[in-house]
Amino acid sequence: AAVINKIAAGEIIIQPANALKEMLENSIDAEASMIDVVVKDGGLKLLQITDNGSGINKEDLGLLCERFATSKLAKFEDLESIATYGFRGEALASILHISRVSVITKTKDTQLAYKAFYTGGKMVGPNFKALAPVEPKPIAGKDGTQIIVEDLFYNLPSRAKSLKSKSEEYSKIVDVIGRYAIHSAGVGITCKKFGDSNHVIATRPNLPIKERIRSIFGTDVASELIEFDVEANEALGLVKANGAITSPNYGSKKKAQPVFFINHRLVTCDPLKRAINSAYQIFLPKGNHPFVYLSLEINPKNVDVNIHPTKREVRFLHEEEIIEHISGAIHTKLSDVDT
Ligand code: ADP
Ligand code: MG
Repeated sequence: AAVINKIAAGEIIIQPANALKEMLENSIDAEASMIDVVVKDGGLKLLQITDNGSGINKEDLGLLCERFATSKLAKFEDLESIATYGFRGEALASILHISRVSVITKTKDTQLAYKAFYTGGKMVGPNFKALAPVEPKPIAGKDGTQIIVEDLFYNLPSRAKSLKSKSEEYSKIVDVIGRYAIHSAGVGITCKKFGDSNHVIATRPNLPIKERIRSIFGTDVASELIEFDVEANEALGLVKANGAITSPNYGSKKKAQPVFFINHRLVTCDPLKRAINSAYQIFLPKGNHPFVYLSLEINPKNVDVNIHPTKREVRFLHEEEIIEHISGAIHTKLSDVDT
């Protein structure tokens, strides 16, 4: 069973950026206002994520290894809202099968923090000694959770071999963090390489959207941003749509993936991307690419956000109409700009 679990885990987490994204979402779900990430060797040696969120109860630390046995499930009243969170309860358990993980966590209800060690999908003794007594260790600590993932894929050499270079894996991690830093208004996020003093990403909580985009994508993008809200449409299940796009005065020679969030999950949506690009066509000289950030809230019943960590392409009901509605609004916004 251990081998099957290990292989299954390697299908769920195929690169360090998948693990990082899942842990980042957990910190956001835990209502952290600050999240700090440290990465070594493209995430293969070390992925460390520290948040000031709700923490994990000592009694739940043993459950982290169990797929679907997540304490968070208890907070959901019905299956429908579970569906809105998509893929559930497998991410952390998978990571624990294919790396060495230490978790230090403290809730508001306890004086001390607790530290637990995991490897091979099990909670083990201090410093990963499998035979030592398996009990979370009380230690001093702040409210929140620190998860340290070391030696990802150490027991899946074929998976490790299929990865790109460390610097490419690192870029993917930074890309994911930057996107969440733009979308997650209430959260400050930092990221740096292990041993560096400078951060590649550093946002503070409650920065205006333009400031967040400036700090990730630079002043050229931020100074040409147009913020927008698209009218909701109940019949289509479109609850909210807003974002920020660059005016036709901005053009990048590099194609960039638009920053799309649906129901607060980072997604890709090729039909939406194509529609927005064509809305730009008559405004933007050929070979120039816009910056696009768009957040959609769609009736959870209509969305298939059962997004596997390795897949981000999302599907939803009334897709064509919603896309037309949004690209139409963007077209209007662009027409209003004086160039
Ligand atoms: P899911 O997020 O789908 O519930 P995960 O495997 O990602 O499943 O996480 C398992 C559980 O571990 C979460 O439901 C949550 O209770 C707990 N957890 C993980 N990370 C954190 C964190 N940073 N802060 C608080 N709780 C966490
Ligand atoms: Mg999760």
